[in-house]
Amino acid sequence: MRVIRLALACSLLLSAAGCSVWQKPVAEDVVLTAPPEAERQPAPVRERREPQPLLLEVRAAVAALSYNIRGGLLRPPRVEGRLEARLQRGKWRHIVIHHSASDAGNEAIFDKAHKERRWRGVGYHFVIGNGHGSSDGLVEVTFRWEQQLSGAHAGVKEYNERGVGICLVGDFERKHPTAKQMEALVGLVNYLQDRCSIPTGNIMGHRHVKSTRCPGKNLPWYEFFSLLNH
Ligand SMILES: [Zn+2]
Repeated sequence: MRVIRLALACSLLLSAAGCSVWQKPVAEDVVLTAPPEAERQPAPVRERREPQPLLLEVRAAVAALSYNIRGGLLRPPRVEGRLEARLQRGKWRHIVIHHSASDAGNEAIFDKAHKERRWRGVGYHFVIGNGHGSSDGLVEVTFRWEQQLSGAHAGVKEYNERGVGICLVGDFERKHPTAKQMEALVGLVNYLQDRCSIPTGNIMGHRHVKSTRCPGKNLPWYEFFSLLNH
């Protein structure tokens, strides 16, 4: 009995003294908070989703054209003339794309040539230069767009009256449109679709509405359509 009392007294005495035997040293706490090497979980692996084939194709087309035009796709085209002077948004249903089938040209040259055919003037609404006759990629707005007049470019009534005629200077049977021309065309068509609600299905080449080679075999349709916003 005396032994038990002695042990109890000793225990109480140690507790009262705040004996360091029962407290974890700070350094030991720090060590304990870091899990042992073997218990560390590996970093979670992100699930990889393979892109669909069509998406890959579109990305490749965009990358190819982006490379060709040095990443300038998002710049608005340089426009010479008035785009919105009398805009009649409901009038325009189609966009018809042409080439000039000539190495050089500009609005004034086509205006003169078309007047010699006894037309009112240049038959297109827009002319996009290739650096020979006007600046490469410059969009010239003709009187037909400024005054919202029907065109004289398609040879088919519906597409002349309700179709916006865009002519790229160049002969795309033998050569290719310049990168700046394609950049300007994409910007212009995106603008026209935005402002006039023209669906992408109504954008076509001249040869799609009439028996002609215009706008030539070298117009890159796939890349062009892949870059439209709609
Ligand atoms: Zn044409």
